[in-house]
Amino acid sequence: MNGSGVWHADQAWIGHRADDVLIEVEGGRIKSVTEGVPVPAGATRLEGWTIPGLANVHSHAFQRTLRGTTESGGGDFWEWRREMYRAAEGWDPATYAKEASVVFREMVAAGITAVGEFHYLHEHGNGLGEALIDAARAVGIRITLIDACYLRGGLDRSLEGVQQTFSDGDADLWAARVDELKDGEGVRIGAAIHSVRAVDAPSMRTVAAWARKRNAPLHIHLAEQQAEVEECLAVEGCTPPQLLEREGILGPDLTAVHAIQVTDDDVSLLGRHHVSICACATTERDLGDRVGPLRKLVEAGSPLCVGSDSNAVIDILEEARGVELDQRRATGRRVLHQPEDLFRAATVDGMRALGWDAGELKPGLLADFITIGQQPPVLWRQLDLGYLMFGSSAHDVTNVVIGGTTLLSR
Ligand SMILES: [Zn+2]
Repeated sequence: MNGSGVWHADQAWIGHRADDVLIEVEGGRIKSVTEGVPVPAGATRLEGWTIPGLANVHSHAFQRTLRGTTESGGGDFWEWRREMYRAAEGWDPATYAKEASVVFREMVAAGITAVGEFHYLHEHGNGLGEALIDAARAVGIRITLIDACYLRGGLDRSLEGVQQTFSDGDADLWAARVDELKDGEGVRIGAAIHSVRAVDAPSMRTVAAWARKRNAPLHIHLAEQQAEVEECLAVEGCTPPQLLEREGILGPDLTAVHAIQVTDDDVSLLGRHHVSICACATTERDLGDRVGPLRKLVEAGSPLCVGSDSNAVIDILEEARGVELDQRRATGRRVLHQPEDLFRAATVDGMRALGWDAGELKPGLLADFITIGQQPPVLWRQLDLGYLMFGSSAHDVTNVVIGGTTLLSR
């Protein structure tokens, strides 16, 4: 990821549409971006639309094995979860690294240059987490390993079955294990409170303190299903976001994944603390989750980002437009988010939630950029974020550069 070189894009998004853009890269970072330059000798040509690499903020690599298998039969989220627990069992590090490599290669082919792996498979201590890091390194994608503390089966329940392998026993043991994982080239270690279901209040504070001491991203699954909210109200006497506020967990370094079952008061709490919201539209649809008040969250002050979550679909452009399209059906209104806002969610705001200095074509930032193919002159159009976000998909990605190294060119 320390590549150097010169690329020339037909058109690129550099905060605005620009033609004939020269991108100079040195030591894995962008050195200069200049528009209106003819193709110099020795430059690599990027034919089509060049944009920053896409950020996949929330992934569980192992859940790709469920793709297609949970689409027959019936049920709800909780029945899906039983299937998911079966898929979580029995991995050894070598097999998991192999599986993760397949998933990460599919992500790179889809233009994803950084992935956040929300990781709670702790059967082998750090064995499976290290397998994810090894797989990401082998493939060349950036990884933020978001290691999740997971201590109980519910607010009023202890761990059952495979859940027992997710637990370290207590939050101090979780911290001691995660301390063994190190940041490195293309690798960041982040922390997660799995959910308010799985982590008690004092342990939440331990996890948040661990992350804040290290300036590491902090994530949580929040209010995906109404049952979590009801359990929280019954046991703690408040909603999940209110519980996080009470325990000092809310802040701009926190990413709340889903945030679907939230009240107006929750929305203003999350917004006031500038908590990032990670929406996972294709998975939420697949699981029959409801549609969250994303427009209200943005208005309240929360940045948005997106993730492929269960990896039933790996397409960040589809995730980003799903944010908008699902709300159109839920509200009967159109254009609750402008295309440039969806674009930010898929790029710079996602990269920030994962702790990467990337997501814009600007000098000094990590040299991660992708090209959406356009074959001139027949299908050629001017780069337009509305067309990009609503008319393009993972299959249109023709070039992927991560840290100044070309990973895909077709
Ligand atoms: Zn998840």
